[in-house]
Amino acid sequence: MPLDVRQFACLTDNYGFLVRDLASGRTAVVDTPDAKAVLDALDAAGWGLDLILNTHWHPDHAGGNAAVQAATGARIIGPEEVRRIAPLDEVVSDGDWVALGETRFRVIGCGGHTLGHVAYHAPEANLAFVGDTLFAMGCGRLFEGEPAQMWTSLQRLAALPDETRLYCAHEYTAANARFALSLDRDPAVSARAETIFEARRRGEATVPTTVALERATNPFLRAPLLAPDAAGPVEAFAQVRAAKDAFKG
Ligand code: ZN
Ligand code: FE
Repeated sequence: MPLDVRQFACLTDNYGFLVRDLASGRTAVVDTPDAKAVLDALDAAGWGLDLILNTHWHPDHAGGNAAVQAATGARIIGPEEVRRIAPLDEVVSDGDWVALGETRFRVIGCGGHTLGHVAYHAPEANLAFVGDTLFAMGCGRLFEGEPAQMWTSLQRLAALPDETRLYCAHEYTAANARFALSLDRDPAVSARAETIFEARRRGEATVPTTVALERATNPFLRAPLLAPDAAGPVEAFAQVRAAKDAFKG
């Protein structure tokens, strides 16, 4: 059954996502970057809230849990690590399924940005909420994990069907594109960067992206091609990640 996704910008560069299972009218929010922004988006849509799905524990993802739950009565589901800062009613981990009406989300463990980070993939709706693991032309910083863990996590997301829409939690794409152009001369990368710069000049979101687009243009997925002298794919990824961390573009 179809899902209705309402994406809204909040905080400095976060995106929040309301997702409604149209068959049942059951509605979730993916992360709670800003409680007021979540509640305003619900009001604008005229929807109640049944579920909060957290991707990881960072305050710009779980910081609004308590206030959103108090206002809506929604049940909160997420990885155990969320309990470091916010309430959680049910813990999920890799391989679990979460039901939203008739829609089922598979939990994909994708640690690296934080150790317990998860993504939520709805195979029938062809979309996934990927938090701060994979960004359009980018990936999350390694605050807690090692390169090997993040590389594996990115590979798991990149292995989803080509047409899968990926909802990333930040609008970092123009900066990511500038970095990509600094080390990748592939025509698909240049063309996409131009499209992104134009979209941002018009104030348009560059999220969601797709698996096919990321496989073709994301410098972290392309790391083995961009760092051919590295000992292997994990080392190549680590080199590209370190270059991004140092990039002043
Ligand atoms: Zn984060
Ligand atoms: Fe974040």
